[in-house]
Amino acid sequence: MDGPFSLAGKRGLVAGIANDKSIAYGCARWLRHAGAELAVTYLNEKARPYVEPLAEELEAGLFLPCDVRNDGDMEAVFRAIEDRWGRLDFILHAIAFAPKEDLHARVVDSSQEGFGLAMDISCHSFVRMARLAEPLMTDGGSLMTLTYYGSERVVEHYNLMGPVKAALESTVRYMAAELGPQGIRVHALSPGPLKTRAASGIQRFDELMDKAAAKAPDHRLSTIDEVGTTAAFLASDAASGITGGITHVDHGAHVID
Ligand code: NAD
Repeated sequence: MDGPFSLAGKRGLVAGIANDKSIAYGCARWLRHAGAELAVTYLNEKARPYVEPLAEELEAGLFLPCDVRNDGDMEAVFRAIEDRWGRLDFILHAIAFAPKEDLHARVVDSSQEGFGLAMDISCHSFVRMARLAEPLMTDGGSLMTLTYYGSERVVEHYNLMGPVKAALESTVRYMAAELGPQGIRVHALSPGPLKTRAASGIQRFDELMDKAAAKAPDHRLSTIDEVGTTAAFLASDAASGITGGITHVDHGAHVID
């Protein structure tokens, strides 16, 4: 693909593919389709058999384990990127976790440990990734993460992930300001509900999907491909004027009361 949307010659890291339903997989497909070369990570050996065929299909130049809770995993990924490519153009961070008992509780009742763990994996891991990416983004770059509308308004059953995603969105704004001088742009993509592994941990998720479809002006739900084409755009030079914002990919549901 030529023109302003081409990612030919660009190299990026995609973290968060669990299977072919993952938002990160939808993004990786379109980032690759637009011409980018990808590094793909998988959580651990248990996850590897599900991710490896997808990484092969994506012709990933690098395929490495990365559990953001393991000391040294992320550093090893960035060392491998530096050794192989010497530089990096974009990152897609599609990682979130909360312990089930905390996710299913009221925010008021969430544990200190569970809240902290959800914050670390779902929010601060993006900060650590950005810090490791910064020196490799010598020609500027695009840092992307995934958020959800439950940060902006109370969405039933989203519980402690609401405040966690609100922190993530604020982090996007601060890092956009801090990294802007180096030409590094920072984005949050906010899709509507999608049936993924992570989503299966949220109670009454089907109801949440029904409500989102009822609210959306065209009464449709977003797909991982729609998130993917948006990610490809935000990673491209065509989006050079955009940073620090939340891009909703939810068929407009967020504008409806
Ligand atoms: P998913 O289960 O396919 O992906 C979640 C990923 O997080 C998995 O690949 C998992 O391995 C990874 N992960 C969890 N703990 C990790 C750790 N310690 N280290 C490294 N990776 C870890 O589900 P998804 O819905 O595609 O989630 C991707 C992102 O999209 C998340 O940030 C999620 O909050 C966000 N999101 C999802 C929806 C939805 O409805 N599914 C809507 C809006 C935003």
